[in-house]
Amino acid sequence: MSSNIEREKWSEASKRSYAYHYGRAAYEDITYTCRKCSIQAVFTGEEQKNSYEVKKNYIWQRRTLCSLCNADLHKLKAKNVALQERWTKEKAALQKDAVFLTEWLAVLNEFPSYGARVGGAMAKKLGELKARVPNPSIERTCPGKPGHASHVKR
Ligand SMILES: [Zn+2]
Repeated sequence: MSSNIEREKWSEASKRSYAYHYGRAAYEDITYTCRKCSIQAVFTGEEQKNSYEVKKNYIWQRRTLCSLCNADLHKLKAKNVALQERWTKEKAALQKDAVFLTEWLAVLNEFPSYGARVGGAMAKKLGELKARVPNPSIERTCPGKPGHASHVKR
């Protein structure tokens, strides 16, 4: 499906692109491969019109993720924002909280697979902090008999 191009609705940056003078008359469907899950997806003419004329995205901005993976990426970003907010408020406690550090690190480590450059420096910092915190799974496997040692000794 093609959709007619109305260049006057483009962003200022798009209008400065050579596409403004030499582009086609209509948006044609663009087939691409999702970089996350590798399925074939289509950036339809209508979606392009909405992207460039309503959302004012730059005319050379292309899609790299299918709609499902794109939705997943948005969820991941929202999760990251929530973790970042918690971190800002409770940094002193959280930098010693292995569960929190592990969770946030897992979120940050997912971004590269979506081609998103998010939180690389933070991931490095969290990795360093985590290395200094005792692993909670090891603590949990210790037989939990409170006061065990002191009771035995008389
Ligand atoms: Zn996908």
